[in-house]
Formats: sequence, C-alpha cells, structure tokens
Amino acid sequence: MTDDANSNLIAEVISIGDEMTSGARLDTNTQWLSRRLGELGAHVAFHSTVGDTLSDNVDVFRIAASRAHVVVCTGGLGPTRDDLTRQALSDASGRPLVFEASAMEHIESLFARRQRQMPERNKIQAMFPEGSRSIFNPQGTAPGIEIELDGGRDKPAVIYALPGVPAEMKRMFDDTVVPSILRRGGGQQTHIEHEVMKFFGVGESDMEQRLGEMIARDRSPRVGITVSSATISLRITAMGESKETCRDQIEATRNEILQRVGELHFGDGEKFELQHAVHQSLSEAGQKLVTVELGRSAILADWFAAIGETDAYRGGFCFATLEELAAVFQVPIETSLELLRQRTNADWLLLVDQYPSLEATGDAALPAAEVSFHVLGPDQQRSMTKTRLGGHPSIIHARIGKAALAWFRDVQRGNIANDESSPLATS
Ligand code: ATP
Ligand code: MG
Repeated sequence: MTDDANSNLIAEVISIGDEMTSGARLDTNTQWLSRRLGELGAHVAFHSTVGDTLSDNVDVFRIAASRAHVVVCTGGLGPTRDDLTRQALSDASGRPLVFEASAMEHIESLFARRQRQMPERNKIQAMFPEGSRSIFNPQGTAPGIEIELDGGRDKPAVIYALPGVPAEMKRMFDDTVVPSILRRGGGQQTHIEHEVMKFFGVGESDMEQRLGEMIARDRSPRVGITVSSATISLRITAMGESKETCRDQIEATRNEILQRVGELHFGDGEKFELQHAVHQSLSEAGQKLVTVELGRSAILADWFAAIGETDAYRGGFCFATLEELAAVFQVPIETSLELLRQRTNADWLLLVDQYPSLEATGDAALPAAEVSFHVLGPDQQRSMTKTRLGGHPSIIHARIGKAALAWFRDVQRGNIANDESSPLATS
C-alpha cells in the first residue's frame, strides 16, 4: 500500500457510552485513535459520539458504514446490560449473534487464573455477529469484533470494535487492527514501526521551522510533532515490507533530525521526560541529587518521587523562602543549602528560586518573571543561571521545573563552567 492509496482511505472514529455524551468523562480514545489512523495515512473524516441506546448505536454504525472505509469504535463491549455494541453490530449487519467457543475458553481461562467464578453474564462476551472475527484482548475479558458492513460504497466498510478501557484499546489497536488495516490495503507495506524522540528548549514554532520539510504530511517516514507543557515529541512512523526496512528508515530520519535539533534532544520514548534523563545520567555517574524548591510548587519532588525507589534521588524539599530552611538548621542562609546537601548525602543540590503563586491569576497567562536556578556540586562546585519564564497557569510550574532540569543536566554533565560569582559560593 502506498501513502497515496492510504490517503484515499476515509476513516471514522466512534465513541460509545453515556459517560461521554453526558460530559462525565472526556473522550480521549477518539483523539488517540485519530492520531494513529492519521499516521497510517488514513483520512479521519468523522468523529461520532453516541450514548448507550441500542437504536442510536445501530444508526451510528449504519451511517458510518455509508461514508467511511474504516470505522474504529470503542466502548460497550463489557458484559453488562448497558454494553450494547455486539447487539448493535448484529442489528446493523442483519446477522445473528452466534457463540464462539474459542473466545469462551479465553474468557474462562482468565477467570480461572484470577481464581474467580465466571459470572453467567460474561458468556455474552463470547457471542459474535455471524461472519465477524474476534480481536484478541491480551489484557481484559472483552475481545473486540471485526466485521464488514455494507454501506454506500463499492466495498463494504470494515468496523473494528474495541473495549473502552484505554490501555486495552491501545494494545489491541497496535497489535491487531493496524496489521489488519495494512493487509486490507493489499500492497507491500505490511509493517509499521514508531519511534518517539523528546526535546526541550524551544517553542513549537521554532522547532517546526528548524525541521522544515521533515514534518511535511506527505513525507515518508512521517514525522509528527506534539507539545505537552513545553516538552516537544517527534513521532516517526515508518511503513515497509518488513520490520527491518522500517527500522532502517527510522534510523535515517532520526539522524537527520539529530543533525537539525540534536542539542535539544534528551531522550526517547512516549513517557520519557527530563526527570528520567537526569535520573539516568546521575545513575550512570553513580551520583545523588537533592532538590530544594521555593515558592508555590514542589513539582520536581513530585516527578522524582514518581520514578520510584532509587539511590540517585535523595529527596525534595519545598519552602516558601530560604529563611525557613536556614531556620531548620539554625545556620545562616548562605550555609544552609550546603549543609542540606551534605546531610542528605547528596553530590548535587538543585535550587529553584522560585515558582510564582497561581492564586488569583484566573485563566490568564502569567507575564515572564525572573527565575533563578542554583547548583551546589561536589568539590565546591557552584553554578547559577537566571532566566525569564511566563506562560499559562496550567503549565508555568512545569515549564520552570523542566528548564531547571535541562540546565542542571548540562551542569552535571560538565557542559557549564564553575561560576565563582554565584551568591551561594560561600560554604
Ligand atoms: P468493560 O468490559 O470494562 O465494561 P467496555 O468495552 O464495555 O469495557 P465501557 O464500559 O464503555 O467499555 O468503558 C470502560 C471504561 O473505559 C469506562 O469506564 C471509561 O473509564 C473508559 N472509557 C470508555 N470509553 C472511553 C473513551 N472514549 N475515552 C476514554 N475513556 C473511555
Ligand atoms: Mg462496559
């Protein structure tokens, strides 16, 4: 399948459940699926959301089959009475629900493994519209359903029905739905591989400018850019005849990206953040860090705590001002940080001075304000930098925390010289 063939592939994403139509829950599945389908080169032309009413579900499936080639829906596959997707697909296709023994065995074995009696109503999850195929769910009881529905087009539309639980849905989409969509394309490119590279230090528009034609929609492999509170992710998607050809393409694209913006790159992987990069380089050096955060946040402490048990992080302290820290030790402010570094047995101390208060800011962006970062290191090493940062209240603390980590990483790796003029130079 070529990219051109794929861009003619019209897709629709359907999200099912009263919790979405009532506003109780945000429909994140549709966003995730739309991105993935876009990476496959499909054109996602429609999003539909429908509550737990059978006739409405049947309508939505019929409409989707009349206007899209590929339909992915999530939710309503569970065993309870408000889970109507299998019945809706049966009604929309005019094919009765039939029992599938192999699906039943899988469900029974899951209950057996959890040493639980299978409730009678779970049997419904082994019922499939005649002529459909089940989609293996390695993490939960509800298998998905793949079925063709006649619509208004020359070929029937294919519907992939997946569970609503995001983790199950994602795994099943990547494992089973993607290869199925690629196979249906009928071409040579039956494999897809992804890689996510992470960057920090510029805004999205600067990044886009530096990447130039690399982020063009018709490029192959495709490079997608997303930003989440100042961290930029580049997602490379390669399609090819084998895993190896995909990996080769990714490698070449990766090198091109590194040539353009390599100095901003701090690691790889969807969930890899600056604290992981710092943690990694501390661990490699066999060193330990303690953080002190002033003002109205302790976001670094939070992030490092989430890494779990580790020798590299000695803890995080949060004070309104340094006076409070000095009062704890009953020493002058100038020596309080060094004392804290020593007493926590840390090689490095990182101080963030300070996070702005978000009280009474409402929804308006905070103007840029001065923030300074200080590092106390081994062998009397002292460094400090000042920067001006502002932004929306929902991200400003994260942006400051990340700027502190990016700078600390440079200091720790020896890229920033010792600063004799640091006000904390005394010890
Ligand atoms: P289950 O077997 O768990 O009942 P299901 O296929 O019936 O799976 P739902 O009952 O519709 O799925 O949803 C299960 C859970 O998945 C919901 O409680 C909700 O937390 C989450 N969920 C469902 N749909 C979405 C969605 N579109 N976006 C984000 N989360 C969702
Ligand atoms: Mg359910």
